[in-house]
Amino acid sequence: MPWQYKVLKVKTGGMVVPNLDGLTESDLNTLGQQEWELVNSIPMAKGGGQVEQVYFYFKRWAELPVNIPIEPVARINCPKCKAPNRPGATGCIQCGANLAQ
Ligand SMILES: [Zn+2]
Repeated sequence: MPWQYKVLKVKTGGMVVPNLDGLTESDLNTLGQQEWELVNSIPMAKGGGQVEQVYFYFKRWAELPVNIPIEPVARINCPKCKAPNRPGATGCIQCGANLAQ
């Protein structure tokens, strides 16, 4: 399964009371609308036990890499003119020959 990850490093703020205003509920909702799901957050402590910043880990489905081959659609060749037809087609798209078995 191709997953895509994003790490946001948010510094804590506040002179008196520590806060994480750098990442608001609105920010999280925006990320959620972009299909990012918050899967983990890790506070990075510095000396004295103070938290300087928090790492937020997001994941979402990645776009399939373009080099993954797409399964070709099965075709049925017309017995008369050899034109490729969709499976289940009753008449040849090119010559009109009856394809029903
Ligand atoms: Zn045909």
